[in-house]
Amino acid sequence: MRSPSKHRRLTGTELVLATHNAGKVREIRELLAPYHLTVTAAGDLGLPEPDETGTTFIANAELKARAAATASGLPALADDSGLVVDALGGAPGIYSARWAGPAKDFDAAMARVQRELAAGGIGARTAHFTAALALAWPDGHVETFEGYVRGTVVWPPRGTRGFGYDPMFVPKGQAQSFGELDPAFKHAISHRADAFRQLVAACLARE
Ligand code: IMP
Repeated sequence: MRSPSKHRRLTGTELVLATHNAGKVREIRELLAPYHLTVTAAGDLGLPEPDETGTTFIANAELKARAAATASGLPALADDSGLVVDALGGAPGIYSARWAGPAKDFDAAMARVQRELAAGGIGARTAHFTAALALAWPDGHVETFEGYVRGTVVWPPRGTRGFGYDPMFVPKGQAQSFGELDPAFKHAISHRADAFRQLVAACLARE
């Protein structure tokens, strides 16, 4: 006999995406396309962007999803992601975007990862990308999921595809970096894909 899911399923047809990043809105819309949802971006509803004051990826995704669900009166989905380098105690982690500064200079952010590894005289270069997803309802209920892709950080950066730290990340079992690999391949094995598969299995119905 199948035991009932401990997760709450999304039964309505409307969903707010609690992100103001146009690239993420596009990517998440594509991932949600099979689920017959009317998806609206928080920015299009004029919702404010809360400060990311959490100390974990999950906490930040949760506070963004909760804020959008409360303000809109609709279920809301938020994500938070970043690069976690083991030998740097998990840095840049939740500060991945902030390491690039207001100019969003990821060449500088990647150089800082390399500089800090070299300063520590550290040989181990294992790392992973993490993606947290939070689905919040206006009544305060929240479901959270965390996805990963493991690999190593390399220097110098390689390739011009992808974004952020992609050129310095080589996923486990591959010879090329995310900056060199086919984006379709990256999207199939990425931390975001992993988190999405969990969300879909737990909360979404394909009908
Ligand atoms: P967020 O918008 O707060 O989730 O910040 C995510 C940051 O983590 C991005 O700005 C990137 O620096 C980094 N990041 C997350 N996912 C990826 C990825 O798939 N490739 C490269 N960098 C990523």
